[in-house]
Amino acid sequence: MAEITRELIAKLPKTDLHIHLDGSLRPATIVELAKKHNAYLPTYDVAELGEYLTVQGKVDNLERYLEKFDITLSVMQDVESLRRTAFELAEDAAKDNVRYMEVRYSPILHQKAGLELEEIVDAVLAGLREAEDHFNIRTGVIICGIRSINPQTSLLLAELAVKYKGKGVVAFDLAGAEYNFPAKDHVKAFYQARNNNINTTLHAGEAFGPASIHQAIHYCGAHRIGHGTRLIEDDDLLNYVRDHRIPLEICLLSNVQTQSVPSIESHPFKTYLDKQLRITLNTDNTLISGTTMTNELDLATQTFDLSPEQLCKVILNGFKSVFLPFDEKVEIYQKAKAELKQLLV
Ligand SMILES: [Zn+2]
Repeated sequence: MAEITRELIAKLPKTDLHIHLDGSLRPATIVELAKKHNAYLPTYDVAELGEYLTVQGKVDNLERYLEKFDITLSVMQDVESLRRTAFELAEDAAKDNVRYMEVRYSPILHQKAGLELEEIVDAVLAGLREAEDHFNIRTGVIICGIRSINPQTSLLLAELAVKYKGKGVVAFDLAGAEYNFPAKDHVKAFYQARNNNINTTLHAGEAFGPASIHQAIHYCGAHRIGHGTRLIEDDDLLNYVRDHRIPLEICLLSNVQTQSVPSIESHPFKTYLDKQLRITLNTDNTLISGTTMTNELDLATQTFDLSPEQLCKVILNGFKSVFLPFDEKVEIYQKAKAELKQLLV
């Protein structure tokens, strides 16, 4: 049995199913793009900017965490910047041996310089495809509606996801501030997505209780749940999520930073694992949270004293939960399983 070191985790095949494009840029790229476009930054020193944008310890709440995106979004308003940041994100993930990644973002937040929604989606897809040509990684895109923006906009974005079905977009999501912005307000957007056989995932149970997860599943028909941290508070709903094998996209460090949990140790991750829920581990935002897939898996392994079998289970849950057609999913799952058998168990 292999001893689980960080070096070993880095070598393992991985998925990242919950990563925001606008929260996962390289600080050096932000500085370069800001200078090129005369955009304001609080500092133009790369190291200082990195420190400013990455949460140090904790923020007061999810809203404070989301404020940092104003800066990253300010340099992501043109085709080339979108292409480049998408390419670099996939490059960084591939170097961490992430074999399959689903990148999410909301095109509506990239229209400040007048880009059409389609130009934005095309630019990100071009960057990701370019990375797929250069590195050992596959990618998909998840288009996000935003809770605090009106439901009509979510519907428009769901229609955009439908338009790009089979062309790189794999799902529709609802992101943004959870408190005071219930998912059920956006039910039409989710119906539009599901009615066109598009996958759906929703951020829920991160900054609000299990009622939010209940709405995500029963009103919006979520196929996966982003975070699901507070599912632990409702046994009946937890059993439903388990019975239906609804994957949870868990982001450990991010949950501590936004005070969704008081500490890593108090995260329900291990309880979920013991109860055999289909939990996956993800980064959320590599820049804002200052993390990587290797870091999240290492954190879980150290904190919860995972055995090689348990670590293997969590990784394979990721491959089981990808939004790919079944035959393609089986193929990448089997490949990852064989590799994990060689390296881990
Ligand atoms: Zn998220």
